[in-house]
Formats: sequence, C-alpha cells, structure tokens
Amino acid sequence: MTTTLTVSDETRKLIADVKQWALKVVRPAARAADVCGFPMTREEMLEECPIDISPFAFGFLDLNDKKLLETKPWLNALLLDGKSNVAARLVEAISYGDGWPLTYFPNAGIAETLISALGTPEQIDKYVGGIARGEYSLSGWAMTEESGGNDVASIKTTAIRDGDEYIINGTKRFLSNGAFVDWAVVFATIDPAARMAGIRAFIVEKGTPGFHFTIEAEKKLGMRYNRQGAYSFENCRVPAANFLKGKHDGSETIAALSMFNRSRPYCSAQAVAAAQAAIDYAYDHLAGRNGLAQTDRWRRMELEFAELKHVLEEQRQLIYRSAWLTDNGYPEIKEAAQAKVHAPRVAEAVILRCMQLMGPEGISEAHLLEKWYRDVRLCDIVEGTSHIQKMVISRQLLGASAARA
Ligand SMILES: Cc1cc2nc3c(=O)[nH]c(=O)nc-3n(C[C@H](O)[C@H](O)[C@H](O)COP(=O)(O)OP(=O)(O)OC[C@H]3O[C@@H](n4cnc5c(N)ncnc54)[C@H](O)[C@@H]3O)c2cc1C
Repeated sequence: MTTTLTVSDETRKLIADVKQWALKVVRPAARAADVCGFPMTREEMLEECPIDISPFAFGFLDLNDKKLLETKPWLNALLLDGKSNVAARLVEAISYGDGWPLTYFPNAGIAETLISALGTPEQIDKYVGGIARGEYSLSGWAMTEESGGNDVASIKTTAIRDGDEYIINGTKRFLSNGAFVDWAVVFATIDPAARMAGIRAFIVEKGTPGFHFTIEAEKKLGMRYNRQGAYSFENCRVPAANFLKGKHDGSETIAALSMFNRSRPYCSAQAVAAAQAAIDYAYDHLAGRNGLAQTDRWRRMELEFAELKHVLEEQRQLIYRSAWLTDNGYPEIKEAAQAKVHAPRVAEAVILRCMQLMGPEGISEAHLLEKWYRDVRLCDIVEGTSHIQKMVISRQLLGASAARA
C-alpha cells in the first residue's frame, strides 16, 4: 500500500495523461462551460480521455472483478496506489484544465455512491448501472432545503407510508444538475420528532407525478457549469421499492454523511488545482512580457511565485493524508475536515495574488483567472462550509460526536 508522499510510475503516467487531456480538451472549453453548463456531449468529452469513470465513483468499484480490469486496464493504478489517493490526484489533474468535467463523468454523483452502498442489487443495477450504460444521463442528490444544508436532522420534507408507497411533501434547493436529472436520491423525514433517526432516503424518478423542478438552474457566482436547481414535492407517491433500505434506523443518513468525509478533500483538490493553474498561467504570461524578465521586479515576483507554490503544497499534503487514511481503513473524519477547511481559502488568496501580479489583465475575461477565482469561492461552501468543518474538527478533538448534539 502506498504512502502519502509518492505514487507508482504507472499511476504517475495516468495522472500526466489526464492532465494533458485536461489542457487539450477541458481548458479550451472552460469559458463556454461558464456560460452554458456542460459545453459538449459526454461522448465528445470522453473521446480522448484516458479515464471513463468518475474519480468520485472509485470508492464503489469492485477491483476483484477481473473483467472490469481487463476492459479498463488503467484501473490497475487504483490497486497499486489506493482508490482515494488516485482519485484525489486525478481530480487535481482534471481541474488543472478546469473543473467543469468533474460532475459530468459517468457516475460522478453522490447519489450513485449512496445507492451502491445501501441499495438492493435491483436498485444498483437499474440506477447506477443505468447511468454507466447510458440509459440515464444525470442523477441528483437532494438533501439541502431553504432553511439550511448542514443541519440534516432539521430536514422538513416528509415521507409518509401509505400501503406500498411513500407520499413525499416538501421543497429542496441548491441541487447539482438542477432540472437536468433523470432521477434523484431525496432525503425526507418519516418522523420529525426523531430528528436524525427519522431521516430516510428515496429514489425519485423524473416524471413521477408531484415531483416538480421549481428552479432549473440558479444564477450564481461561480461553478456555473454545475447547475443547481430546486425541487418541490406535492403528494408525490414513490413506490416502497424505491426506499433505500439501510437498517431502517436512520443509519443511511449517517452513511451518507460519512461519504462526505471521503469526498470533501476532492473539493480541496479542485481548489488547489485551480490555484496551481493560476500560478503557472500568470508566471508564463508575465515571463513572456516584453523586457520584464530582465528586471529586479521579475526576480521579486519569482520569489513570490515560489512562496505561493509552497502554501499550496501544504494543502496538497493534507488532501493526500486524508485519502491515505481512507484507503487504509482508518477513521478520516478530522483529517478530511482539515483537508477541506483551509484549501479553498488558500486557493482563493493565491489566485487573487496571481491576478494582482498580472495587473488589470488579471481580472480580464481574456484569461481564466477571474473564473477560477469565482469557482473556488464555491469550494468553500459545497459539502459543508469551512465553519462547519471547524465544528467537525473541534468535536473530534474534544471527543464529542455529532450524534450527541
Ligand atoms: C455548487 C453547489 C452544489 C451543491 N449541490 C448540492 C446537491 O447536489 N445536493 C444537496 O443536497 N445540496 C447541494 N448543495 C448545498 C450544499 O451542500 C450546502 O450549501 C452546504 O452543505 C452548506 O449548507 P448551507 O449552505 O445550507 O449552510 P447552512 O447549513 O445554512 O449554514 C450556513 C452557515 O451557518 C453557520 N452554521 C450552520 N450551522 C451552525 C451551527 N450548528 N453552529 C454554528 N454555526 C452554524 C455556518 O457559518 C454556516 O456556514 C450544493 C451547494 C453548492 C454551492
């Protein structure tokens, strides 16, 4: 098993190939993605891509499946260096081009991870397999409501059992893939007084009577490629067969939250990659500026670029450490929150400084720095704000658990 410091030559080559693809295919489409969401079809995106499964989905791959490894030999990297370790590094390689493909790869959704962990074989085949086979395109994951996202125990959407069905009522907001989903895993309470223990998850298909898209895509600061929508449920009847079973005691919610532990560092990997891209872009741009390279000012700038690289490297090590813990079966709650808490803000400060170093050109839409700056602002919010990460860390340090709160 790998350490956090190094990966095998095979994995290093895979990462380099993905980075090259990201520079050739992803970055040139970044500006279009900022305007219209996904700027090409999934087939076009994957045509030259060395990987065809989302790094977010590595956690539920069965690496003992010989057929899978025969058809996708690149997955050998996961056997050599660990699923989370390789995933974090590939998220970074993709995001170095731009972040837009991250939610567009097949099975990129948290919903698929949740169904893979808790679903029946029929649910897994129909919904997770259905996306891999191209029968469905995009999934949704609906936890957040108008009143908040982090306080899951306060979910107001209800699910009442009625014979072989559940009747869902309520509203959800800020949901990735907006009105473009084919189905969504929806969190609702069967007993509001039971708080966390009352939360259950249901698969709801687009077109189910009573399931409405009330906002197609929010207008927002950054990550515009990842469109967020809102749902409402009005007496929406869902077959009991679509209930994600777990242990019937609310453990599915806790499992869902523990999945955030694994994916939180990927938000940071995205932020770090955007900041690295900004450093490299600004450096190359300024190095090519007429006469600047011969000046004292350039030598001072070079020292500053070195310092910016150093602060990013610190964040990278927190990400790799958290991934290593996951791969080796250790608890990673505190370390995952530590990997999430600072990286987006460090990345934001790094990109801002790169924009300043480029002068007024730094904020021009002729370059991508202003887009990356807006995108990393959202890395701080998605999957739990930095305030919430600090609470997670302090609870772990004090030995308290979220369940006791
Ligand atoms: C790009 C993007 C994609 C998203 N995709 C999805 C999705 O697909 N599905 C989904 O369900 N959600 C999604 N979300 C929502 C996201 O998960 C939530 O926004 C995030 O978890 C933060 O929750 P919140 O914004 O509701 O903040 P809240 O929970 O409302 O918290 C806001 C602030 O209140 C403070 N606070 C909250 N609780 C406490 C406390 N107990 N003590 C002290 N202070 C507190 C903190 O400062 C916190 O930052 C997405 C959001 C974004 C930006």
